[in-house]
Amino acid sequence: MPRPILATIHTAALRNNIQRARRAAPDAKVWAVVKANAYGHGIERVFEGLRSADGFALLDLDEAARVRKLGWRGPILLLEGVFEQRDLELCSRLGLWHTVHCDEQIHMLATHKTEMPHRVFLKMNSGMNRLGFAPHQYRAAWTRLNALPQVEEISLITHFSDADGAKGIEEQLRIFNTTTQDLPGERSLANSAALLRHRIPAAADWVRPGIALYGSAADFPEHSYADWQLLPTMTLSSKIIAVQAINTSATVGYGSIFKADKPMTIGVVACGYADGYPRHCSTGTPVLVQGMRTRMVGRVSMDMITVDLEPLILAGVEVGVGSEVTLWGNASKGAVLAIDEVAQAGGTVGYELMCALAQRVPVGVETD
Ligand SMILES: *Cc1c(COP(=O)(O)O)cnc(C)c1O
Repeated sequence: MPRPILATIHTAALRNNIQRARRAAPDAKVWAVVKANAYGHGIERVFEGLRSADGFALLDLDEAARVRKLGWRGPILLLEGVFEQRDLELCSRLGLWHTVHCDEQIHMLATHKTEMPHRVFLKMNSGMNRLGFAPHQYRAAWTRLNALPQVEEISLITHFSDADGAKGIEEQLRIFNTTTQDLPGERSLANSAALLRHRIPAAADWVRPGIALYGSAADFPEHSYADWQLLPTMTLSSKIIAVQAINTSATVGYGSIFKADKPMTIGVVACGYADGYPRHCSTGTPVLVQGMRTRMVGRVSMDMITVDLEPLILAGVEVGVGSEVTLWGNASKGAVLAIDEVAQAGGTVGYELMCALAQRVPVGVETD
């Protein structure tokens, strides 16, 4: 028998989540953001659930080629644009739309030989200070692009730094709107948090949800996935492979960081940091055993974690080798453990846990 760890991707949940995103901006077109191999889910595995999208947005040219290979003929957007001149040839060949965020990319386009003019998204740095033209350079960049025979259509794009938090998007939105006021072209502004938390009048023409599609709340713990009517799209499950009855003062695992204050029963689970379970999650991190909530104890090892079985024993739940363990996502009896809760216990965010799912974990797709 293979090691019992398994990740499951839930197609119906992806479908629910993209519909939810659409309801938040009914007049906008939806880019399904599938960068980082669909946030660790696998582009091929999420495609069916997300195919109602108006387009797919990603970073890697390889990933764009994979989306085309799945038969997608609609729009694909490279969120960081091209990295070198010859990438433009692939854009021409695969009909990829691409972001233009710097002078170098305009120069590459100006010297690109193509029969098919490109659709580009001109990026404004409206305050995040990663990619894009500063507001005072933006219109000049637009004019230069507009003069190129290689460019067919220019859309306008920016990205918010604080859509999930107290600072919000107002200032960046004001800068974007002021600078672009009379420029023609479609707009694309909102990531998941901006889409769900802020009513952007022009939620504009294209919204760009990523994390919401994967059933995680960008603004957890202020809101949970359920508050936003999202559903988890990834379950990481395993089984108990050993049980230890320990006495008061016995310790568990490396470094002996957990010490029993009473006699207790510990379950050993086939899942460790080499599977993508965050090592920073130690004693107290929530976990479901047979669908019942309990906690991790001690350190995460490479291949194992240890969990407290006392709550199950107290409740009279039968538990032992082979019992179902849910690290995040859906348990078999309808219980759910939000990936955001696990991430928080490890000092990180749901995004990172999904993206870090390890290669060695087998992945199944639950179709509906
Ligand atoms: C990743 C990304 C998104 C999606 O962000 P989420 O927080 O996952 O919704 C949107 N736009 C750009 C430019 C991105 O890089």
